[in-house]
Amino acid sequence: MPNPAAHLPFYYGSISRADAEEHLKLGGMSDGLFLLRQCLRSLGGYVLSIVYKLQFYHYSIERQMNGTFAIPGGKAHCGPEELCEFYSKDADGLCCPLRKPCNRPSSLEPQPGIFDNVRENMVREYIRQTWKLEGDPLEQAIISQAPQVEKLLATTAHEKMGWYHGSISREQAESRLYSGSQPDGKFLLREKKEKGSYALSLIYGKTVYHYRIGQDKAGKYSMEDGTKFDTLWQLVEYLKLKPDGMIYYLKESTPNPDTPTAAMAPSPPAHPSAYTPRRLMSQNSDGYTPEPIGAGKKGRILPMDTSCYESPYSDPEELKDKKLFLKRSSLIIEDVDLGAGNFGCVKKGVYKMRKKHIDVAIKILKSGNEKAGRDEMMKEAQLMHQLDNPYIVRMIGVCEAEALMLVMEMASAGSLNKFLYSKRDDVPVNNVVELMHQVAIGMKYLEEKNFVHRDLAARNVLLVNQHYAKISDFGLSKALAADDSYYLAKTTGKWPLKWYAPECILFRKFSSRSDVWSYGITMWEAFSYGQKPYKKMKGPEVMAFLEEGKRMDCPLKCPPEMYKLMQQCWTFKWEDRPDFALVETLIRTYYYSIAAKTEEQSEETVKTTPA
Ligand code: AMP
Repeated sequence: MPNPAAHLPFYYGSISRADAEEHLKLGGMSDGLFLLRQCLRSLGGYVLSIVYKLQFYHYSIERQMNGTFAIPGGKAHCGPEELCEFYSKDADGLCCPLRKPCNRPSSLEPQPGIFDNVRENMVREYIRQTWKLEGDPLEQAIISQAPQVEKLLATTAHEKMGWYHGSISREQAESRLYSGSQPDGKFLLREKKEKGSYALSLIYGKTVYHYRIGQDKAGKYSMEDGTKFDTLWQLVEYLKLKPDGMIYYLKESTPNPDTPTAAMAPSPPAHPSAYTPRRLMSQNSDGYTPEPIGAGKKGRILPMDTSCYESPYSDPEELKDKKLFLKRSSLIIEDVDLGAGNFGCVKKGVYKMRKKHIDVAIKILKSGNEKAGRDEMMKEAQLMHQLDNPYIVRMIGVCEAEALMLVMEMASAGSLNKFLYSKRDDVPVNNVVELMHQVAIGMKYLEEKNFVHRDLAARNVLLVNQHYAKISDFGLSKALAADDSYYLAKTTGKWPLKWYAPECILFRKFSSRSDVWSYGITMWEAFSYGQKPYKKMKGPEVMAFLEEGKRMDCPLKCPPEMYKLMQQCWTFKWEDRPDFALVETLIRTYYYSIAAKTEEQSEETVKTTPA
């Protein structure tokens, strides 16, 4: 998650209180001289250090549950910069207003914090080890799931640290610390019997000392009368720097003998979904998990928890059997209709592989549709066969038997528009952003491969579950030659005009940029929870509307940032329109910024006191 203070010239990063005071001394000690630094105790928090009457004052700034920033007891602000601007006009409880920023010398970069240094690696390692991912699927998972995983890691990371020994007794802790050498500062952390309570056991002078760590009502950890921390690992990292009331500081950890992996390596997963086998388990038949979005929430199914995140052929054993044509005897067709199209119907089924059976959707060509339908279906199959991305419905193969059949991965929660319409009161807008970000990842992949989809619409985004979308229906798609940037259709056809960019309608010219236009319409459909675009207009009328410079209005619940992105997608001239690489970055940045926010906004208000 980007640090919203990183660009401020008076931000020093993760420096100690003593270092902050040194900088302020060098800055001249005038009243109102101030600097900003990272807080070691609260996740995403800062400390404002100010000089007044030759004294130093340090105020903690906390990132609140709703993503705003506030000095406890003070007004909330959308970022640390806005907060500093506010206090430069009005002291509002501080020792004095902020008068002069104590800027960093030009040679000095902000000091990275402990979590800053390890976060990226921790997220990568956690995803790699928990979901056993490598290569592209790993990279995609990191991009799409970083906010959830980061928050989950932050609150449960201690369980993966070498110094965490779980629920062992005081006697066991002592015996582990006394075994081997006994340097001062050798320590471990253990869970006590009372819920939410822990103990730090530390050797000093060949004697073990035990310190109880409790949790307050807000969930913050501290030793008796000690500094409060959002997470246990922050507390441990802090106590490595200073004893904070203990007999000695923490130095060398005693590795947990039950944890074979080293620190940071996620051993037994703390996340409940990681306990579930890598198949979708705890959801209703319609794939709807009726809990709000929230990082690390119990029962939250991440895309990587599902069986269709990776290709069924990612297992080298299964890869041996991979071919375009599948054996009929490996396919079970159930009498369950998933949908229908011009070509025929889509039925539910099971495909029997060497080691596993997978749920599939089978597109069956109806009889009487022979030659043309057959060619079209084969084209779609050959195109889909070249694609492999977690956010695109994969084709398993085709089967020639009682009919020509296209066998695809199953996305059981149905199309995005229908899902959002039926669950419009239950699905929070953050969830819509999450799904549209996944669509952007899939489309960016298509753009990189020089494929144009030509039918991107909410009806063609299928859901595996409430938090996992896949792009489908490649019936109109084209693979462009390496040197081509667009496909020129010879004739017009039965086209989804409301989703098409002006150059498609005017010149029959299709490119990834025209897919970006359709992505904007898909966004509009998603943020209006399944409404139909340009409701009162007929397809051909839309062009005149667009040429007048008009665009659809912002849907009711749509965040302004997302409407702005839609409008960018609806840039008339394709050359000026963003590509998917940019669209994905923009929606990701927004998604990361809101993923930290939760529904609860009940923060305790505390009187302003120097930290
Ligand atoms: P299509 O012609 O590809 O849009 O498919 C028609 C309908 O069949 C879709 O709207 C879905 O309801 C259903 N369907 C198609 N593919 C799948 C799939 N892979 N998984 C689940 N349902 C599907």
